[in-house]
Amino acid sequence: NINSTKYLFRSAAEAGPHDILKMYTPRGNITNISPNLEPNSPTSCYQLEVVAADCNSEPLGTIAGALGFDLFSMEKRLQGLEKKILLEVGETPAVVYEMKREVDSFRHKLESVEHLSWLGLFKDLSDGTHKPSPFYHKRSLHKTREECEHVQEKFLQMRSLEVSEEVRQYLKTPTFDNWSWEDAEMMVLLQLMFSDLDFNSIFNIEADVLHHFLFEIYRRYNNIPFHNFKHCFCVTQMMFGLIWLTDLRSTMDTIDLLIMLTSAICHDLDHTGYNNAYQINARTELALRYNDISPLENHHCAVAFKILERDECNIFRNVSMDQFKRIREGIIRCILATDMTRHNEILNKFKSIQPCFDFSNKDHTDVLMMILIKVSDISNEARPMEVAEPWLDCLLQEFFNQSDMEKLEGLPVTPFMDRDKVTKPSSQTGFIRFVLLPLFMELKNLFPCLEQHIIHPVQKALDYYTEMETALERENQNQN
Ligand SMILES: [Zn+2]
Repeated sequence: NINSTKYLFRSAAEAGPHDILKMYTPRGNITNISPNLEPNSPTSCYQLEVVAADCNSEPLGTIAGALGFDLFSMEKRLQGLEKKILLEVGETPAVVYEMKREVDSFRHKLESVEHLSWLGLFKDLSDGTHKPSPFYHKRSLHKTREECEHVQEKFLQMRSLEVSEEVRQYLKTPTFDNWSWEDAEMMVLLQLMFSDLDFNSIFNIEADVLHHFLFEIYRRYNNIPFHNFKHCFCVTQMMFGLIWLTDLRSTMDTIDLLIMLTSAICHDLDHTGYNNAYQINARTELALRYNDISPLENHHCAVAFKILERDECNIFRNVSMDQFKRIREGIIRCILATDMTRHNEILNKFKSIQPCFDFSNKDHTDVLMMILIKVSDISNEARPMEVAEPWLDCLLQEFFNQSDMEKLEGLPVTPFMDRDKVTKPSSQTGFIRFVLLPLFMELKNLFPCLEQHIIHPVQKALDYYTEMETALERENQNQN
């Protein structure tokens, strides 16, 4: 009961019973109303803001109508339901299932909307401008046709250009700076990776098909802060770098290298910016489809093979049946390995075979391939600070978007995503110490040459964030 005397609210004093309010902590962060809420004090108060006035009136009614909901009748039915449950304790009325279905469908619509924007939107609509759907943000999640056409055109102009030897070599190093390249240029560089590893000639990949494939990949990465096409490029570029630095061409089959590079390209396809925990807690369509088992990774992989089903995009269309079978198995294994909940399982497997690692043993190379894509996936901190730090900002932005949505929907909030609990350095020190370094160290044990390339920069990043963390703590103490 937000009107209880326990809480004193500044502003929003004029709010009525049918208004929608946002609540902020004294620090200005949006928060969830819960029994665990700290009480107000005379010096620090929660703040309420009216984001939609009188929800029974026309504007919201119109929105609900556009979505296929009749709020008023839903309310009535809810009342009826409550009565029914009171009368027939022990029996679940059918109407409960019906309403659950409606709520699920509403949630599904919400999911595809960028964080909080739907709340802000209510204000826009109340000024009389008519929009067919309040959830137009759904469109901005996926790339627009104009955006794709623009990049496609640029890619077409550039794809036959010669890339200098300098860039070719630079592309093989973890110091590569993605921020100075445009999307179309990154597509040219991905194309270059295929030809530099001789994939085009060995697997008879036609230039046009590779071009269509890469463009479709570009198109199916969404406009979200972190898991976007630039992330796809970075992971692939790190994989490419690792292949060269560890000279895998002399120890592994080319088909395995093809599997690793393609897996990296496809590993986050159609990511919506909400992780598996969210998918499962919110019971999204993906969680339902994959029974809560790595819903996202399963989806990324399925989207990849959907793209490959189209003949003009199928870079594997000239390989033998047996080769395709091996490629498909390998890509599925690699992409599913990027689910971080399987981190320890995969790392322990690698640790156990490491002392007797044998490149001619398929079981061993299968694990190595999973380790390599995992390392590439979380390798931002192995990059120069000026490349890595903006990535951390992107990641936190995506995390905060999710936790804000979780608060709005009353779902459990993932602690490391909570803007009230996480700071930039605190998010990194633990992650680097307990997840990143142990993984990278194991790979370095197999390939000692990697020390300078991936271990040193990560240690430098750890020092940097540890220092920043102490400075922040000192600052907080001083304030207290
Ligand atoms: Zn990823």
